[in-house]
Amino acid sequence: MRAIARIAVIEDSPAVQLLLGRLLSNAGYKDTKYFKSVEEAQKEFASLKIEDTPDLILMDIVLPGIDGIEGTRLLKGIQILFNVPIIVMTAHDDDETIDRSYKAGAMDYIRKPFRKVELISRIGAALRLRHEMERRRQREEELMAINNQLTISNIDLSIKSNLDGLTGLGNRLYMDNFLISTWKEAAVSGTEIAFVMLDVDYFKKYNDLYGHPTGDQCLKQVAGAIDSCLFRKGDTAVRYGGEEFGVILPNTTLEGAQLVAERIRMRVRSMQIKHAQGVGGIVTVTAGCSVQKVVEGIFPQKLIDLADSALYEGKHKGRDTVVAAL
Ligand code: GH3
Ligand code: MG
Ligand code: MG
Ligand code: MG
Repeated sequence: MRAIARIAVIEDSPAVQLLLGRLLSNAGYKDTKYFKSVEEAQKEFASLKIEDTPDLILMDIVLPGIDGIEGTRLLKGIQILFNVPIIVMTAHDDDETIDRSYKAGAMDYIRKPFRKVELISRIGAALRLRHEMERRRQREEELMAINNQLTISNIDLSIKSNLDGLTGLGNRLYMDNFLISTWKEAAVSGTEIAFVMLDVDYFKKYNDLYGHPTGDQCLKQVAGAIDSCLFRKGDTAVRYGGEEFGVILPNTTLEGAQLVAERIRMRVRSMQIKHAQGVGGIVTVTAGCSVQKVVEGIFPQKLIDLADSALYEGKHKGRDTVVAAL
């Protein structure tokens, strides 16, 4: 809020304007603008910038054209004036006039002829109210801006904390949450959920042979291959950790999961990523599949444990294979 209060006076009598001007100026209010009618003020206020808004409007009631009560109602309808207090000035301080003024949106009234102390104290009170409202509005704007920023940061954070930085797939946290929500949905519909756990074969050796950065590139390619094998809505691939990946297949049978796993295994093979100590000289994956009908007492961890055991079995069988947990 500006240091010097700006007051707009709507008063048709030049003599009253002069008197008011002197009283206001003596009381330290030197930024005052005068209008002879509501129409004149309306024209000016219609194109007003927010920084030029008056802090207070003093409104004569008896005016040529639109009177001060109707004028109060009209000015209160202008958006940037909504929080600007209007004090009506009247020689008719009968109950009806005062009542109509308040109803039109005036915050106070001043009797004519003016009594200096009354005039200045009522103006002071109105300006304090205006100041307080402005402060509150600014504070609300600041809080809103902070709030918006926080919302954006939170979304950003939640995306980042759920994504694997290397492959762009969801991470373990994402998988846990996704599995819980899918589990709940499946419990309602009584459907099955299948899961595939995939692990890159001899990956330690791959790193040793070609270096960690090349290993990272390989993991990105494998992640891309896995993702490219999922077509159904809801099928979700995640990086489970290290060189292990998980695929959640809602509403899918064990046979369905085996098909998807086999498709992924072949897709990885088809990339022909050279691995001198890999199965057949290329990078391959081993997969373990599991399925669970969602019933009471069975938890998502069961699905993961079963797939993990099947994967382990696949490793023992010689890798580059798909094993289903029965
Ligand atoms: P197996 O065929 O039995 O799966 O053997 P493996 O060597 O793949 O399995 P092991 O668990 O012994 O080794 C996993 C390796 O994956 C070891 C680790 O350095 C590597 N690794 C894990 N995360 C990353 C990663 O983000 N980048 C790279 N380059 N390597 C990783
Ligand atoms: Mg008048
Ligand atoms: Mg592993
Ligand atoms: Mg491995």
